[in-house]
Amino acid sequence: MDKVAIIGAGLCGLAACWHLSQRCQVTVFDSVGIGGGASGVCAGLMHPYPGEQGRLSWNAKQGLDATKQLLEISERALGQPVASFTGILRLKPLIQSFDDVEPLGDANLIHSGVTVYTSLYLQGLWLACEQLGAKLCIAHVNSLDELQEYDQIVIAAGDGVLRFKECAHLNVKLIKGQVLTCAHPTLERSMISKGYLAKSAIPDQCHFGATYERQFTSKEPCLQTALEHLKPKMENFFSPTTILDCKAGVRVAAQGHYRPILEQLNPKTWVLTAMGSRGLLYHAYFAEMLSQSMLQILNG
Ligand SMILES: Cc1cc2nc3c(=O)[nH]c(=O)nc-3n(C[C@H](O)[C@H](O)[C@H](O)COP(=O)(O)OP(=O)(O)OC[C@H]3O[C@@H](n4cnc5c(N)ncnc54)[C@H](O)[C@@H]3O)c2cc1C
Repeated sequence: MDKVAIIGAGLCGLAACWHLSQRCQVTVFDSVGIGGGASGVCAGLMHPYPGEQGRLSWNAKQGLDATKQLLEISERALGQPVASFTGILRLKPLIQSFDDVEPLGDANLIHSGVTVYTSLYLQGLWLACEQLGAKLCIAHVNSLDELQEYDQIVIAAGDGVLRFKECAHLNVKLIKGQVLTCAHPTLERSMISKGYLAKSAIPDQCHFGATYERQFTSKEPCLQTALEHLKPKMENFFSPTTILDCKAGVRVAAQGHYRPILEQLNPKTWVLTAMGSRGLLYHAYFAEMLSQSMLQILNG
């Protein structure tokens, strides 16, 4: 059986792991563990109309379908719901009308919108990967030389990709994001406007976010900075009663467009990154493309 190493146990790494584990012996390496990077703080919003104007995202249907398939797999492995399918309410107008969007007063209900309970989803997805024989190794990979015994390597290391010399050419930017967990009556569905209020898996809590910090010196959460950035967005929704937690992560985004990066770097190495703010929409779709291309090569 071909041996594959995946660096990163976030959305991209685990989705790739699930697809590749169907045919290969996969080991996932992560310095921290499952959801150690941006995926661990992801607020869970997935819908086809992101951005200020709410334009239809590139290949959104394929992205939604691919993620929904993995949500089902995760849910089955975990034995509990890992997402809410009650739609997402967009409080701002959309640039045009769409079949899956229903006007509700001044707002728009995006029926295809899903709130993913990302940590639960990753837990379930990892269980499904383990059932296929995948292994997790909690270790930091400093260089690809350490993985010479593997037939194929996938770098899905989030903002860690830039530490690998093979990825130095990638034209990406890093954007820090912070999200607050607040005490709030359980939401029927998540709401988006300039900011968002996302439904949580835990009753009487919600996630409020997010900051887009293009200049930052530390990846750690800073409540004061988060509140400075988020206060103007809060007016759209609520005034938080109790802030229970503040989490931070770093998004990787391509320069000049919103599409993720999937590239074969050399005959045995691939990179999957630059999910930006659309990790949930694209991780499964791109992981499937990666796995198909890699298996074609392995099968000669
Ligand atoms: C505050 C915030 C809110 C967000 N909300 C949403 C949302 O609502 N909807 C949405 O679709 N997207 C959202 N995103 C974006 C989404 O979280 C990311 O697009 C996605 O998580 C990226 O996944 P990834 O697997 O590429 O990277 P990551 O999740 O960052 O995973 C990379 C992993 O690699 C590991 N790693 C790195 N370097 C090494 C190394 N050298 N050796 C071993 N391990 C290594 C890290 O520990 C980490 O676990 C949000 C992001 C932030 C910051």
